[in-house]
Amino acid sequence: MKVGLLIIGDEILSGETLDTNSQFAAKLLNENGFNLVSRITVGDRENEIIKGLESLLNDADIVITCGGMGPTKDDITKNTIAAYFGSDMIWNKEVENELKSRYEKAGRVLNELTIQQSLVPEKAEIIMNPVGTAPVFWFNKDKKVVITLPGVPLEMRYILQNIIMDKIKSRFVADFILHETIRTVGIAESAIAGKLKELEEEIEKNCSSDNYFKLAYLPELAMVKLRLTGIGKNEDLIKTNIAKWKIKIEEQVSEFIYGYGDDELAATIGETLKNKRATLSTAESCTGGYIAHLISSIPGSSEYYQGSVITYAYEFKEELLDVKKETLTRYGAVSEETCREMIAGALKNLNTDYVITTTGIAGPGGGTPEKPVGTVWIGVGNKDRIITKKYTFNRNRTENIHLFAITALDMLRRMLKD
Ligand code: AMP
Ligand code: MG
Repeated sequence: MKVGLLIIGDEILSGETLDTNSQFAAKLLNENGFNLVSRITVGDRENEIIKGLESLLNDADIVITCGGMGPTKDDITKNTIAAYFGSDMIWNKEVENELKSRYEKAGRVLNELTIQQSLVPEKAEIIMNPVGTAPVFWFNKDKKVVITLPGVPLEMRYILQNIIMDKIKSRFVADFILHETIRTVGIAESAIAGKLKELEEEIEKNCSSDNYFKLAYLPELAMVKLRLTGIGKNEDLIKTNIAKWKIKIEEQVSEFIYGYGDDELAATIGETLKNKRATLSTAESCTGGYIAHLISSIPGSSEYYQGSVITYAYEFKEELLDVKKETLTRYGAVSEETCREMIAGALKNLNTDYVITTTGIAGPGGGTPEKPVGTVWIGVGNKDRIITKKYTFNRNRTENIHLFAITALDMLRRMLKD
């Protein structure tokens, strides 16, 4: 079953209001086996609403509109869609009574404008809105339906989740939809796509009119999510294929995989540390505690995380981490030598099994031709082994710091795996 979403509201188009309703609706529909195939956003203008509606109805079986259902003059969805279906407006006593009794109970006065919500399209099925004043209209058009939801996020969410979803399920047969997300770190999107080229071709060959498969690459800074999707009628086939392809991905890019679904890198590292009964501390310069924040954001991290020192200034590196003055003056703070001494000092002074350190230039200032902005020395170590590595990233300050931190966590992940 294909669903189209028509988001209506000038404030969405102007960027004043973020369209959170779309995300909510898309996720909920997907989880219930209804595939959102298209979404159109239009302003509160009659011709735009009609154009959007017609365009969505070309392909979708179910069109859900959202917004413009208020009683004020700027909200025109109700009348526009009623006119589209050639429907007169009639006074609905049930809506009126419901509103009156609700307002009476709350000790509030029902004003002239709000009571107008009782005026509804004759050709629509009227669905009461238990959390607001705008009723929902359900129109049938041949084998398709158009459902109008209010735009207020709280109302829209409640009604879609608790009333409309069940009604759609009883009227239409849902597809089987399966997503598998595999999370990778430390490899670029294009590089990973190169490794999975053959698999992509295999996936494409398996698509038919009844069952649709796809491998999507969803890049974030330093990370790429791989999402396998199967949508269709044949649940067994979808499950078997997705499971088979998941294994193929695992075989081909295993060293970069840190988790699945909603797993966080810092959390998977935490699990490994817990299993090893090992502790971790951080000694951060250029990341300024950001790695500490990522690690300590994970519930239960106190089981393995000891804490952090943030050593921005030379004196702090010397006093807290025993970095030699000579090393700093001779090689600079952003150097392999300093990075190594930071690890050694942290291992000695912080009473910990594993250490992560960073020392680099986040920018925008502070770069030199030899050490441009984005240069960082990252180190990880334990009592047996110290690994240091230089990276050069090319982003703004915030993104550089994030990249330094993710790369540092990834270095520890790899060390823990060995
Ligand atoms: P309306 O449906 O036009 O009466 O909108 C009522 C309220 O809901 C306004 O404050 C809108 O900004 C908000 N709203 C409408 N549509 C959306 C949407 N798609 N996402 C988030 N908020 C919305
Ligand atoms: Mg509006």
